[in-house]
Amino acid sequence: LKLRSTPVKDAQHQITGRLVVIEDVTREREIDKMKNEFVSVVSHELRTPLTSILGYTELLLAREFKPIERQEFVQTVYDQANQLSKMVDDLLNLSRLDAGQIKLNRWVVSLHQIIREITKQLNEMLSEKHRLLIDIPEGIPPIFADKDKVRQILTNLLSNAIKYSPNGGQVALIVRELRKVPPGAPPLPNERSVIIAVRDQGMGISEEDLPKLFTRFFRVDNSTTRKIGGTGLGLSITKALIELHGGRIWATSTLGRGTTFWVTLPIATELARRG
Ligand code: ADP
Repeated sequence: LKLRSTPVKDAQHQITGRLVVIEDVTREREIDKMKNEFVSVVSHELRTPLTSILGYTELLLAREFKPIERQEFVQTVYDQANQLSKMVDDLLNLSRLDAGQIKLNRWVVSLHQIIREITKQLNEMLSEKHRLLIDIPEGIPPIFADKDKVRQILTNLLSNAIKYSPNGGQVALIVRELRKVPPGAPPLPNERSVIIAVRDQGMGISEEDLPKLFTRFFRVDNSTTRKIGGTGLGLSITKALIELHGGRIWATSTLGRGTTFWVTLPIATELARRG
């Protein structure tokens, strides 16, 4: 609590009382604390690729290297700079989302069409160890959504499914109309929705880590994740974009067997469809 006290004077400037204002600043303090934490996490995360870029360029400037070594160092610098650039893009995206500056451009859109549009990009990400299964019934009703954002949501989840199943296996994208609430779901909105499952047969996520997945910068801490590389921001952005649509996201997983991300998105109403 913050206390402010001001004397109250009459016309003759005599103090006749005091005005005391009691303000609850707990929430303000909490936000300040969160901001400070965020800045310190961001600085730390940006420093990691920067340290590596500086280290390798110093090395390259210090002396001559065989072309093959040189090539390797330059490649590392390039990869780390890319990582840095992706992180900055993600951070900008997140801060725009936080500030409410991202407006949805919602239309009646067909998931069939969006999925067709992303398959080319997806096929490029797949290794020969992966099989992609797309299961969407002909009669799935259109959703009321921002097409570019839905494309971003699906590519984020599918690229994670591929990234975090380094041994390959099936990556599935399954779409249904939501009729009964699947196990593990949070409270869902009442409106008619589609449910999208993105399922992989990869490394899985421990029960302990599942609730932390959508926290900014969270990355599961193991040697494989460290090798795979990433910013830990993709899922926070994905979740914010889904919630802007009034949808929900959650995950179920078995360590070592695979993970499923579930997403609900609202179906376009008759009114919007006739719109
Ligand atoms: P990034 O992939 O850049 O690290 P994300 O926010 O997309 O960031 O994901 C956060 C973390 O969640 C990842 O680092 C990874 O540890 C875990 N994760 C995400 N998707 C999967 C998945 N399909 N299978 C296993 N772990 C996953």
